[in-house]
Amino acid sequence: MNLILIGPPGAGKGTQADKLRDDFKLPYVATGEIFRAHVQNETELGREVKAIMADGGLVPDELVLELVASRLDEDDVQDGFILDGFPRTIPQAEALSERLESEGRHLTAALLIDVPDEEVIKRISGRRVCVKAEHLYHVDYDPPKNDGVCDQDGSRLIQRDDDRPEVVRNRLAEYHDNTEPLIAYYDEQGILRRVDGTRPPVAVHDHIRAVIATLKLEDNV
Ligand code: ADP
Ligand code: AMP
Repeated sequence: MNLILIGPPGAGKGTQADKLRDDFKLPYVATGEIFRAHVQNETELGREVKAIMADGGLVPDELVLELVASRLDEDDVQDGFILDGFPRTIPQAEALSERLESEGRHLTAALLIDVPDEEVIKRISGRRVCVKAEHLYHVDYDPPKNDGVCDQDGSRLIQRDDDRPEVVRNRLAEYHDNTEPLIAYYDEQGILRRVDGTRPPVAVHDHIRAVIATLKLEDNV
């Protein structure tokens, strides 16, 4: 099962992926997480993308494609994956299809988690992540038991640098300009599945599980 998650920043993709990777034992690949690790570790790639990410821009396709190509070479993703944050542009989507096709594989579905901009802004302004493994919280919707401390590994919770309001506006603009066209692209291929992301996390999860159950029947996966 080869799944991609599409949706604006803050739609709940990471929240849902966390549950789905447990449900279906699928490896999770989030390009944003990989880039953040490069920035944190001050690699050459990290130095190249740091300023772009801090402004909420998109990393150029060539760099993203190089990174994803080598990640998709790894053993754990040969039988399936959940991709989050990739593809984000039509050229990225085309490159992914070509790559999978060359291996006799195809995307099972593109799951669109749809949330309007006003809700995105509320979610992102309250998002907190732990420094160790990016476990997710929201100060109002999903607070940790102890303020500022991760329930799962006890590490410190921080606000992502690019979750500041002025950067979020840029990220939303990038989403509307470059990523939204993927909705029509995958719809035309018949693999788009829409999920109402405004509902509580459990309801969104139930809906996605039902969608995947149907896909399994249709696609024999
Ligand atoms: P994305 O990965 O799409 O950027 P996240 O999964 O990080 O989004 O979610 C953004 C914020 O919204 C997080 O703080 C998360 O706790 C919260 N959140 C996620 N899903 C929901 C939901 N269905 N209802 C309310 N808050 C949510
Ligand atoms: P995310 O964690 O998905 O919100 O991504 C954080 C940031 O990483 C984005 O704002 C971009 O700067 C960069 N990024 C992640 N994935 C991609 C991608 N597929 N294409 C371009 N930029 C990306």
